[in-house]
Amino acid sequence: MTIAQEVKTLLSKLGVAEAAYTGGAMPSFSPVTGEKIADIAVHSADDAAKIIDKADAAFREWRLVPAPKRGELVRLFGEELRALKNELGRLVSIEAGKIPSEGLGEVQEMIDICDFAVGLSRQLYGLTIATERPGHRMMETWHPLGVVGVISAFNFPVAVWSWNTALALVCGNAVVWKPSEKTPLTALACAAIFERAAARFGEVPAGLSQTLMGDRTIGEALVDNRKVALVSATGSTRMGREVGPRLAKRFARSILELGGNNAGIVCPSADLDMALRAIAFGAMGTAGQRCTTLRRLFVHESVYDALVPRLKKAYESVSVGSPLETSALVGPLIDKGAYDNMQNALGEARDHGGKVTGGNRIENGHANAYYVRPALVEMPKQAGPVLEETFAPILYVMKYDDFDAAIADHNAVGAGLSSSIFTLNLQEAERFLSADGSDCGIANVNIGTSGAEIGGAFGGEKETGGGRESGSDAWKAYMRRATNTVNYSTALPLAQGVSFDI
Ligand code: NAD
Repeated sequence: MTIAQEVKTLLSKLGVAEAAYTGGAMPSFSPVTGEKIADIAVHSADDAAKIIDKADAAFREWRLVPAPKRGELVRLFGEELRALKNELGRLVSIEAGKIPSEGLGEVQEMIDICDFAVGLSRQLYGLTIATERPGHRMMETWHPLGVVGVISAFNFPVAVWSWNTALALVCGNAVVWKPSEKTPLTALACAAIFERAAARFGEVPAGLSQTLMGDRTIGEALVDNRKVALVSATGSTRMGREVGPRLAKRFARSILELGGNNAGIVCPSADLDMALRAIAFGAMGTAGQRCTTLRRLFVHESVYDALVPRLKKAYESVSVGSPLETSALVGPLIDKGAYDNMQNALGEARDHGGKVTGGNRIENGHANAYYVRPALVEMPKQAGPVLEETFAPILYVMKYDDFDAAIADHNAVGAGLSSSIFTLNLQEAERFLSADGSDCGIANVNIGTSGAEIGGAFGGEKETGGGRESGSDAWKAYMRRATNTVNYSTALPLAQGVSFDI
C-alpha cells in the first residue's frame, strides 16, 4: 500500500469526508517520502469571517452551560481519542514524520489534557477576599471569554490544539483553529473526532469547534477579527513578531508560544550516563524539531573528555530512517527548507571555528525526503548561529570552567523556553532554579529540556513570547476575571475613607 492509499484508509476510519482532502487548492506532502498525499480544500477570508461569526454565536450559548457539563463534552472527546489513538498517531507519523512512539505520544498528550480539563471543569475557582468595609463581601468570579483562535505549528500538529481546546471548552469558549499548512490532515482528523464526541454529547451549539484551512493569510484573518477575544499562537518567533503587535493593536489577548534555543549545563558532579541519555533524546529526538529541543550544551572542562566523545559516538550511530518502516529513532526533516536552513547554520558554525560531526544528508531513495544525520558541533565559544534557533538536529557543545559564566552564557540568547542542569551538587541545582539562575519558563534538574508533562504550565520568556498553556493555572488566560463587591449593610461606606455626602 502506498502512503497516499494508507492516508485514505486512515482518514476514512477517522471519519474525514473525502471532499475535504481531494481536489482542493493546497497540496499536502508527507516528509517520510516527500510525496503528495492530499489536496486540501482551503477557506477564503469571507469563509473565515462566517466561521468566526458562527463561533461567536456558539460561544453565546455555550457560556451558559454549567462548567462541569462542559467538562462532560471534553470527557467524551478523550474517550474518542482513546478509541482512535493508533489511527491518529499513525497519521501524525505520516504527516509530521515522527517515529511511532512519538506519534502515539502526541495523542496520549491529547488524552491527558482532556483528563486534566475534565477535573478543571469543577475547579474554576475564584477567591473570597477580605474587604475593608463592614457589611460587605468581595470576591472574584471567572467567566467565559469568547472565541479563542488557535494557530499551531507543524511539529506538534495535534497536541497543541488539544491543550488549547480542552481548556477553552471547559472555560466556556468556542474555538477556531488554523493548523499549520504543513500538517492539515491531522487537523481534519481531530475535527472529525471532535464531532463524534459532540454527537454523543447531544446539545453542542453548531460551530463550537471549527477549523480554518489555509496558509498564514487565513491566520491573519483570524488574528485581525474583532470577534476573536484571544489568539493562542504557536510557531516561530518571526510569526510572533507579526501576530503579537496586530493583536495588541486591537487590545485582544494573546498567548504566544514561540521559538526556543534551549540549553543544558553539565557540571563536574553530573551522573554522566544519565546526562548522555537525556542529551541524546533532547537533542536528536523528533529530528531536532521540538520547540524544547536541546540546542546548546555547556560542559565543565573536567568532564568534557569523559562525555563528549561518547556523545559523538551516539551521534554517529543513532538510527535514522523512515518512521513508518524501520525502528529508527530519528525520522525526516519536515521539508527542503528545513534541510537548507540546517546546512546554512552548519556552514556559519564552521566559519566561527566549529568542528562538525554528522549533519550530512542520508539518501533513502526519495528525492524529496530529507533525512539527515544529527550534527554535533564543538564550538570554541557561543557565537553566530549558536545564538539563534535553527529548527533541525544541531547540538552546539561548549566547554566551561566557571559556573557563573556558564549561567550568563546560558541566558545570553533571545529565546527563553526550556533549560536543564545535570549535577548532583545541591548548591548548583538550587542556584540554577533560583532568581539569578536559568531565565527560562522551564528549568529542569537531571532531566533533559524536552518532553514536558501536561500538568505544569508550558511556555517561555523573552522571545519565546511569555505565554503559558496546558496545566497549573494556565486556564485563567482563557477566562475573564470579574471582581465583585456586595454590600449587605444599610450604610454606604466608601473605600479609603473617602466621604461624599450629598
Ligand atoms: P511558523 O511560524 O512558520 O508557522 C506556525 C503557524 O503560524 C502556521 O500555522 C502558520 O501558517 C502561522 N503563521 C505564520 N505567519 C503568520 C502570520 N503572520 N499571521 C498568522 N499566522 C501565521 O512555524 P513552524 O515552522 O510551523 O514551526 C516551528 C516553530 O514553532 C519553531 O520556531 C518552534 O520552536 C516553534 N514552536 C514553539 C512551540 C512552543 O510551545 N513554544 C511549540 C511548537 C513549535
